[in-house]
Amino acid sequence: MKMNIGIVGGSIAGTALADRLLQSGHRVEILERSASDLVDRGLGIAMDPSVAETLGGDFGIPIHQRVVFDRTGVVRWRQALSKRTVRWSVVHEVLASGLPEGIVDRGTHVLEVGVEDDLAWVRTESGNRREFDVVVGADGIGSRVREAVDPGFKPEFLGYVAIRGLIPVEALPPEAGPVREAVLDGSMVNGYLDRSHVVAYPIESPSGDLLINWMWYRNTTMEDLDDLLGTGEPTVHRWSLPPGGIPAAHLETFRREVSESMPASMSSILRSSGSWSLQAIHGGTASRAVSGRLVLIGDANRIAIPHVGAGTSMAIIDARSLAAAIDGSDGELDRRLDRWAEVRRGETRDAISFGRDLGRFLQYSGTEWTTWSSDDYDRWWTELRAGRRLYFESS
Ligand SMILES: Cc1cc2nc3c(=O)[nH]c(=O)nc-3n(C[C@H](O)[C@H](O)[C@H](O)COP(=O)(O)OP(=O)(O)OC[C@H]3O[C@@H](n4cnc5c(N)ncnc54)[C@H](O)[C@@H]3O)c2cc1C
Repeated sequence: MKMNIGIVGGSIAGTALADRLLQSGHRVEILERSASDLVDRGLGIAMDPSVAETLGGDFGIPIHQRVVFDRTGVVRWRQALSKRTVRWSVVHEVLASGLPEGIVDRGTHVLEVGVEDDLAWVRTESGNRREFDVVVGADGIGSRVREAVDPGFKPEFLGYVAIRGLIPVEALPPEAGPVREAVLDGSMVNGYLDRSHVVAYPIESPSGDLLINWMWYRNTTMEDLDDLLGTGEPTVHRWSLPPGGIPAAHLETFRREVSESMPASMSSILRSSGSWSLQAIHGGTASRAVSGRLVLIGDANRIAIPHVGAGTSMAIIDARSLAAAIDGSDGELDRRLDRWAEVRRGETRDAISFGRDLGRFLQYSGTEWTTWSSDDYDRWWTELRAGRRLYFESS
């Protein structure tokens, strides 16, 4: 049966879903709060190669190993892995490229959603009420749709932020040499520091130049976070600061900490990059993904903790598998949706729980990484992983 489907949020999950539903002949409308076309959102992301390949044969840069530097600049560990790294906006562009004009209703802020019998409705900021057969929440960490599906849910601040930046490889200072070499060799570089860590990997700029995309994870109290994000009160949620948006006083502190806590091969990269941005790291999975004709996908369903680089790939698989469930002929729609939710919960559980455990260990264990041998790192990883499935270790 062809349906009328409303999607709240036109980022990765929302566009991936609209693309598949339109192919099956459904009527689709994306309600997107942002008035822009989202091209400048986000920096680099790491993806599951099996998902990246569905977006284009040689999509992204292949990454074949993790190289861990300690705080003195010594390489302590190399681990084989398989990921693809790419600019966020390239993923979004590819997903959105198949959508016809007029599908995305930009600048439309959904304030409330609900269900009535066999239909779902949304109410927008401008006072419009629209009705659909199904409403899908692809509206990310602060999801409004989730408020109706799981009213008790609150994203949990995990006690640290990611400070992020980009720099062209050509602009790197000489001190960056060891990290530069590892990145050019197709490595994901990690700096394991004292209760903190850095990640750096290559992505391509729009003009095809190679850039280093980095993230520095820094512990931050709830009070500092409120001060940093400028909300003044903990009940008002903001999740990030855009490039160049970190207040000057904080920026000065961060730049000093970078110099004091990292080897020069890393600190020189961060300090030479302009326009730092910041994202507070949260976690949490909605207790259910389906309520009547309301469904959650992507970060609205479960907040992807960044350390496994799986959020975008999970959002795309959520969208495609949901479209298949909507199109299925196996029982009533309600049952198909419930079954879909259960399967996806099982498939994503390991990535979510491992990401959380890894982040907690790197940020809070206080491990003295400089004294560990490569075997110690191997043993630690095996114990921490505890048999959980991670896409990047599959080959
Ligand atoms: C520091 C950091 C690093 C990361 N690194 C990676 C990585 O390397 N690899 C990876 O795969 N993932 C990574 N992620 C996670 C990844 O960014 C997310 O999992 C992914 O973007 C989720 O996409 P989404 O479409 O579900 O949500 P989002 O991208 O958050 O999109 C939600 C959309 O909904 C819209 N919206 C919100 N509320 C409303 C409303 N009320 N009305 C209308 N529209 C609304 C928003 O404007 C937005 O366009 C990282 C995350 C962080 C914080």
